[in-house]
Amino acid sequence: MEAKSAARERLLSAHDGLIDLSHRIHAHPELGFEEEQASVWLCESLADAGFAVEKGICDLPTAFRARTGSGPLHIGICAEYDCLPGIGHACGHNIIAASAVGAALAVAKVADEVGLTVHVIGTPAEEVGNAGGKILLLERGAFAGIHAAMMVHPAPFDMLRAKIIAASMFEVHCTGKESHASAFPELGVNAADALTIAQTALGLLRQHIRSTDRIHGIITNGGTAPNVVPAHTSAKYIIRSETLDQLAELQPKVYRCFEAGGLATGSKVAITGGDKPYAEMHHDEDMAALYRSNSEALGRPFPNLGEWETRPTGSTDMGNVSRAIPSIHPMIGINSLPAVNHQPEFASHCVTADADKALADGALAMAWTCIDLAINQEVRERLMAR
Ligand SMILES: [Zn+2]
Ligand SMILES: [Zn+2]
Repeated sequence: MEAKSAARERLLSAHDGLIDLSHRIHAHPELGFEEEQASVWLCESLADAGFAVEKGICDLPTAFRARTGSGPLHIGICAEYDCLPGIGHACGHNIIAASAVGAALAVAKVADEVGLTVHVIGTPAEEVGNAGGKILLLERGAFAGIHAAMMVHPAPFDMLRAKIIAASMFEVHCTGKESHASAFPELGVNAADALTIAQTALGLLRQHIRSTDRIHGIITNGGTAPNVVPAHTSAKYIIRSETLDQLAELQPKVYRCFEAGGLATGSKVAITGGDKPYAEMHHDEDMAALYRSNSEALGRPFPNLGEWETRPTGSTDMGNVSRAIPSIHPMIGINSLPAVNHQPEFASHCVTADADKALADGALAMAWTCIDLAINQEVRERLMAR
């Protein structure tokens, strides 16, 4: 088909620049909402290609939107570009960002011809776990008028419909009272013990939750000195369930474990966050089927992954987008095993030849899927009727 050939040619001509963009973002990791350099580089790449770029949309300085074409079907391609604390781009968001730009550049040339407007939506802070960039952008109207949304996410292997579950991140702050830990221990209120009791209670709770629920966290402040009774301690936890409904059932049980720590020790316990959870992902079947055939046409089939097909994976604020707008979030393999996401070894894999190929393939598969959505009358009408 001519439109698809034209998209492929355009992507080929942009190839080296996209790899360079991915590697630059990888070499300069930035945390959520602090992605100054990445958002500038991404906006520059799109502006240079003739896109209308708005940076700092919706009061989020590192968010952006770039638009091309003037067709009636509006497709949003989401770019993520935040890293993880301490281990850099161990989730490969450099590949997500560059593939989003690549897909949009490839479609730009044929957008008007097939009746498309393409938006690259720069979505900061996916890794934060609560009130992620896409949730705030959705609330503030950045996705208004978009009929369908998509992105690809690097993973050890290709997976069309990963089981992406709901999640909520919150912080716990415990306040007790300092005292000399040996001379006057009876005058102290031990805020570290409050977290120890909470963790014990969580351990017991695990027997009585769904096998698909997840509870995991870190102590971010455990005290200041062993001879001072800890008066200020804190933790960050993430809880996950298959759906937002199940998450709403899990959340109070988990919170009670922290309250138990407060009750037993006499510490005050305050919980913040946990108010804008990530939703489970709904994969649009039509879009997924088209992406599958395009990926297969590029020599990238989706093998049967056995238990991985149904096993809960991670969570993303793209889940929230998928509840508002038909969406897909295919995982694109970078051949990293045994390294998996959120390991430093995975970060190293995100700039290999396999990672660069995933970037190019993901970009083209998305570009071709955009074209298919535009020219498939039935799907197009369904998307535009919403
Ligand atoms: Zn990620
Ligand atoms: Zn991640």
